[in-house]
Amino acid sequence: MEASSFKPRIEEKTWNRGLEEQMFKRWIDEQLYSFNPQSERPVYSIDTPPPYINTPVHIGQAYTYTCMDAIARYKRMSGYNVLFPMGLDRNGLPIEIQTEKEFKISIRNTPREEFIQRAKELLDRYEGVSVTTFKKLGLSINGWEKKNSIGAVYETDDAEYRRLTQETFIRLFKDGLIYEGEKTANYCPVCRTTISDAEVEYKEYSVNLNFIRFALVKGGDITIATTRPELLAACKIIIYNPEDERYTNLVGKEAIIPIFGKVVKVVPHPYAKPEYGSGLVMICSYGDYNDIRILRELAIPPTYIINQDGHMVGEAGPYSGLTVKEARKKTVEDLQTNGLIVKIEQAPHREPICWRSKNPIEFIPTKEIYLKQVAYKEDLLKLTDLMTFHSPQSKNLLIDWINNISVDWVLSRRRFYGTEIPLWYCMKCGETIIPPPGRYYRPWKEKPPVDRCPSCGWTEFKGEERIFDTWFDSSNTQQYILGYLWEKEFFYRNYPCSLRPQGKEIVRSWLYFTVLKSYLQFKKPPFKDVWINHHVVDESGEKMSKSVGNVIDPQEVIKRYGAEAFRAWVFLEGDITEGDVKYSYARTEGSGKFLTKLWNISRLISSFPEEPSAAITPSEEWMFSELSSVIAKTRANYENYTFSKAALDLRYFSWNIFADHYVEMVKTRAYGGPGITKEEQEAAWNGLHTGLKNILLLMAPLTPFITDYLWRKLYGLTSVHSQSFPSFEYKSDYVNLTQQIVDFDSGIWNAKKSQGLSLKDPSSTIVPAQLKPFEPDLRRMHHIQ
Ligand SMILES: [Zn+2]
Ligand SMILES: [Zn+2]
Repeated sequence: MEASSFKPRIEEKTWNRGLEEQMFKRWIDEQLYSFNPQSERPVYSIDTPPPYINTPVHIGQAYTYTCMDAIARYKRMSGYNVLFPMGLDRNGLPIEIQTEKEFKISIRNTPREEFIQRAKELLDRYEGVSVTTFKKLGLSINGWEKKNSIGAVYETDDAEYRRLTQETFIRLFKDGLIYEGEKTANYCPVCRTTISDAEVEYKEYSVNLNFIRFALVKGGDITIATTRPELLAACKIIIYNPEDERYTNLVGKEAIIPIFGKVVKVVPHPYAKPEYGSGLVMICSYGDYNDIRILRELAIPPTYIINQDGHMVGEAGPYSGLTVKEARKKTVEDLQTNGLIVKIEQAPHREPICWRSKNPIEFIPTKEIYLKQVAYKEDLLKLTDLMTFHSPQSKNLLIDWINNISVDWVLSRRRFYGTEIPLWYCMKCGETIIPPPGRYYRPWKEKPPVDRCPSCGWTEFKGEERIFDTWFDSSNTQQYILGYLWEKEFFYRNYPCSLRPQGKEIVRSWLYFTVLKSYLQFKKPPFKDVWINHHVVDESGEKMSKSVGNVIDPQEVIKRYGAEAFRAWVFLEGDITEGDVKYSYARTEGSGKFLTKLWNISRLISSFPEEPSAAITPSEEWMFSELSSVIAKTRANYENYTFSKAALDLRYFSWNIFADHYVEMVKTRAYGGPGITKEEQEAAWNGLHTGLKNILLLMAPLTPFITDYLWRKLYGLTSVHSQSFPSFEYKSDYVNLTQQIVDFDSGIWNAKKSQGLSLKDPSSTIVPAQLKPFEPDLRRMHHIQ
């Protein structure tokens, strides 16, 4: 055949991102990724994080779901039956708060039924937006339909999902792991609910440290320093460090609380830091966690002066009815009037705040339902060793949190939009009635599962009105997706779940609570592998936030460069399990150039027929040995979830070895002509197609649109995503000559360039002895005379 008789089978000159939508539609039509629980293949399951659907998908989610998709695609090519479902989180406080805002209603004076209806309306309105972004990214989710089966889209407020949450509760209740207790708990006056330690964040800022004069009962006075003067009425004791020589003379003395006139003891306690304030600290019920700890330790009963609305009450006396803030201001004014403020300094302060409302939390006694966890810390720590963390150091986030746990998990919340706690109480004797598992219960509007109290025979009951902490729902996603409700045999065969991918900021909530519940129910870790991501930040390394105005919408990125260029950027940019990744439009565009390169070589190679059984020449032997090594490296990287390393290796091989050197070396031979035998020509065809085919297979998990398009055009009607991961192996000592080949080629190119010659101009370079096996190709490539 003559050169002129070769025409590219790929006619389009460039990759067109309009093709993305077309490919996605094909995948859906062909049900390419659907999950069949009956399949013989081993299951690989991914517990995808269900995103909150009331806010659009952000760039960090676009990034991490793309990584999860690559895992799913690689595992599918490796022979697994991949369970990769989409969950949508529709529970929780953010939904309630948005419902209040959008409908201009308050949860406090809206009937429960009506409020729930409004929240549902709002959720249905927003849901489509998130799903669209995920589809545009080309995620190989098992299916996009909502139905109650393994692999389908699920919603956390669905009756089936809530049934599971209640079933886990019923099971834990029957095992004696649940109890109700009155304890001092974290309380958010804005969200009007108790919150768990996992929901507490800290804000560092500078506050007024007030130095207040207290008179001593037997004459003289002392100065204590406090950031919370409004708690004077709740001051129970004053402490100083036993090593603090300034105060050793205070042993056995008593002080009088200003304004209130109550008498408290002054005692030594190691918690007081001599260098903080005056070295004398008042311990109140309750200013912070140390107050709780110390009063508990000294067995001093608390006096509560803040109520659930965040107002001063009871013994707060003249400050009753004021908010905490108002009372603080007024107390300081009153102390100043009486000359009792010695001075006010600025001091750094670490204040516990609610992670949702960002409001300071208070410590208030409430009767709540608890799940035991403190007793199992050692066992939970052991479970962490049974999971493999990516990156390995992220395991410490979980270990540190487990070590930090000091109270049981408070499960009950006084809100509406969540899973109801399935309990009823006998109106006569108070007996707790728990229903059998099997359906979703709503005790606030339903009758109990019994007609008579089993304890006293009474017939009137009160349904529980509280709902669960939303993490109590979220901590059984892995249980739900593996079909615990519907296919127990499948569930037990495939538990633990293969992978939990998630953000580092929810290790102490989502990951920890899942580990806890898995331990309490199954005595097993919930996952084999845990993949923890950091964040996508802006170009200068700043966290993206609406108020700063640096938020990047993934839909905008996709509109500008296409989803495939974004995906190429995701994998080429860096490893998000190692640290934050900076988003850049320019670098996304830059990453897209690799797609152009891939398109161009594919188009060139599409001119030639495939000749897979043709005998090869040393040039093919060299390239095959390089290809074989990049396949092995890529497999190892994919197994280890190190996509960034895989992507960089693949780009290097495809572009800097295969395209720049091998394709250039054999191009002329592939077209044929005088002095080229048919065998030599067919060897080139074999080399070009074997190289390209494997590149497409290797790249398919990362850039699924372009690779599938090219694959179907060139290699058949079935998708690249239905193929096996390449197992091509080839060994040749020519692999050691790569650097010499690269240096030889670059030397000639640079020489011609510096002499102002075109690459097509003749050269008189001598091919060195080591490269003799490739001499015919090199002479043709560089037009060596
Ligand atoms: Zn709050
Ligand atoms: Zn009873």
